[in-house]
Amino acid sequence: MAFYRKFIPSLYYPTIFDIDYLLLKKEGITTLFFDLDNTIIPNDVKQIDNKSLEFLQQLQQNFKVLILSNNVLQRVKFASFTIPYVYKANKPLKKGFKQALKLVNSTKEETASIGDQLLTDIFGSRRVHLKHQILVNPLNKRADLKRTRFNRFLAKHFIKKIKKHDFVSYSDKLREYDEKV
Ligand SMILES: [Mg+2]
Repeated sequence: MAFYRKFIPSLYYPTIFDIDYLLLKKEGITTLFFDLDNTIIPNDVKQIDNKSLEFLQQLQQNFKVLILSNNVLQRVKFASFTIPYVYKANKPLKKGFKQALKLVNSTKEETASIGDQLLTDIFGSRRVHLKHQILVNPLNKRADLKRTRFNRFLAKHFIKKIKKHDFVSYSDKLREYDEKV
């Protein structure tokens, strides 16, 4: 498999609210791993807002929901409120994903991840073979950390490759994202 393919998400939606959770359920997904920063909350906002919290709590009635973040304990603990989490996940390394799967006692075949970054969320989820790797637009691009900005720069490089070699995947899953980031 060409390396750039590892950055193609299995599904794309503009925000976490747009995801077809019913479809995921039908496909046997029981577990959702959400990235925190710029996926659930903008990374310059301290705590999850009521709308998102209620939404995640609603999802918890049908799925095991976990926040999988590369950020530090203090940030993740405070921001996640009542949702269980794994912090310092070091995505795209496999360890954090495996830790998360163990924590909720789920298999990769029944798990979908949702995130705003190709290099950490999508690539990492593909490396551990989660059933779905879902891409959403970043909530706040401007407040990105330096490292995230670098990752986005690299991501752009892979998006260009995908656009060149697999235009169907690009159109379906990356075009809208590409226009946003
Ligand atoms: Mg993020």
